[in-house]
Amino acid sequence: MSKTEIVVVGAGIAGLTSAAILSKLGLSVNLIESHTQSGGCAGTFKRKKYIFDVGATQVAGLEEGGIHSKIFKFLAIPLPEATILNPACIVDLKDGSKPIPIWYEKDEWIKEREIQFPGSRKFWRLCNLIHQSNWAFSNNNPVLPVKNLWDFSQLIKALVPMNLATGILLKSTIFDLLRICGLSDDQRLINFLNLQLKLYSQEDVYQTAALYGSTVLQMCQQPHGLWHLKKSMQVLSEALEDSLKKTGGNIVFGQKVNSINFDDVKKSWKVSAISKRENFEYYADDVIYTPPAQSLLKNLGNSLDRNHAYKSRIQSLPNPSGALVFYSALKKEHIKSISSNHYQFVSSELGSLFVSISEDGDGRAPLGEITMIASLFTKTNVWFNLDKNDYIKKKKEYLEKISFALESQFEIDCENWLHRELATPLGFERWTNRPNGIVGGLGQNPDIFGLFGLPSRTPFKGFWLCGDSIYPGEGTAGVSQSALMVSKQILASKGISDFNL
Ligand SMILES: Cc1cc2nc3c(=O)[nH]c(=O)nc-3n(C[C@H](O)[C@H](O)[C@H](O)COP(=O)(O)OP(=O)(O)OC[C@H]3O[C@@H](n4cnc5c(N)ncnc54)[C@H](O)[C@@H]3O)c2cc1C
Repeated sequence: MSKTEIVVVGAGIAGLTSAAILSKLGLSVNLIESHTQSGGCAGTFKRKKYIFDVGATQVAGLEEGGIHSKIFKFLAIPLPEATILNPACIVDLKDGSKPIPIWYEKDEWIKEREIQFPGSRKFWRLCNLIHQSNWAFSNNNPVLPVKNLWDFSQLIKALVPMNLATGILLKSTIFDLLRICGLSDDQRLINFLNLQLKLYSQEDVYQTAALYGSTVLQMCQQPHGLWHLKKSMQVLSEALEDSLKKTGGNIVFGQKVNSINFDDVKKSWKVSAISKRENFEYYADDVIYTPPAQSLLKNLGNSLDRNHAYKSRIQSLPNPSGALVFYSALKKEHIKSISSNHYQFVSSELGSLFVSISEDGDGRAPLGEITMIASLFTKTNVWFNLDKNDYIKKKKEYLEKISFALESQFEIDCENWLHRELATPLGFERWTNRPNGIVGGLGQNPDIFGLFGLPSRTPFKGFWLCGDSIYPGEGTAGVSQSALMVSKQILASKGISDFNL
């Protein structure tokens, strides 16, 4: 048995970031991870001579003032080496028209938009205005949703005058903005927005909250931008892990937390974990829980049974998607010349595919070869409850379908694949312990966004949620924001209410 001030469950980016921040501030921290390595959905795996990013392949928030940058500066550790993505992505709607490069340079992107979507200027200007207002607000580190007076005080401090104007759009969707701008019939623009929004908000134009969507649609451009990490995504986790260890924090691998209960005698949270049939117990004043909120039903059973309202809130969370991810490698000369690390295109059979291609010499493949990763959303239930043979057959079918879609898109000869494999929601469940392999957090529609989302403060004193259930959509940058928020809340509960980066 060991007692610390904080136990963090899960060493994905959310858990590592919150553990590193609190440890740097002098709190004693135990971080418990079920896998044998850190990173979760932003981790990597090695296959033959290749390194594959498991899920996340691009990073937001590395620019000066971006969330990863601010946190790394506070931790006094160097930012991982990375290059800006320009274009961030090339989107091919497969409607016979020219693919759409999403440029990093603002002026280039404005010019491109006017060529690609004539008459849409008003819509983009409106999004930009809303984004400016959102950004000023989020830079002041608000706490959302509000659950007590302190949270409310942080919200009030973060508000800027512009938020009062954009606040009237709290319940609007991106489609409402299109309607306001007279663009509700612009099907090509809607198709483009649907593809991009689904990636970041898990919703389409009709469902994505206007305030949220306006910001994600500006993340590829100056002064923000998306980044490609040198070596692999794992460098982000490794840097946070090193910081945690240097400041005296403890990280345990290969132990799966199976129950968390408040111990009335010890007046502490008791976190029980198991590893190869051996049981471990950890005690802490505060627990930060970073697996998906849906996992609480398994891990927080007793406490949840005493709070029916909270339990039914967790039970009624919308069902998120799973992912199919195709990991492959080939010689650079065997793919038609490419001008971006990321592509998104529509396949008539599979829907939207998001493709990430490594750079020659970036550490993911030997010189002259590249890794190519393609991902698409899938319903999780169609992959579970199959018998072994049906599952293998279905997986093989999808491997071939995705290979074929990529061969047509990038003019690849089917004989030139050096490696191919597919991960399904079952694989994601095994790798990340996410129930049914769900990914990406909750869809950001007006009913579950911002003020109406799931709070990190739970009804159980000292038990906190963090990660992509709390700050979904914007990936590693979003979950880092949630780690900062929960760290501030814990510090405030201990009487330190002026912590800011
Ligand atoms: C296919 C795909 C593509 C993506 N692309 C991008 C992208 O390009 N850019 C981007 O920024 N984001 C992307 N994302 C999203 C991003 O990866 C996630 O939002 C982010 O990494 C989530 O971090 P997290 O720490 O909240 O959760 P996770 O990464 O899920 O980490 C949770 C950790 O908790 C551990 N754990 C779970 N249960 C237990 C338990 N009971 N006991 C102990 N440990 C436990 C898991 O093993 C895991 O390590 C993508 C995600 C996927 C799936």
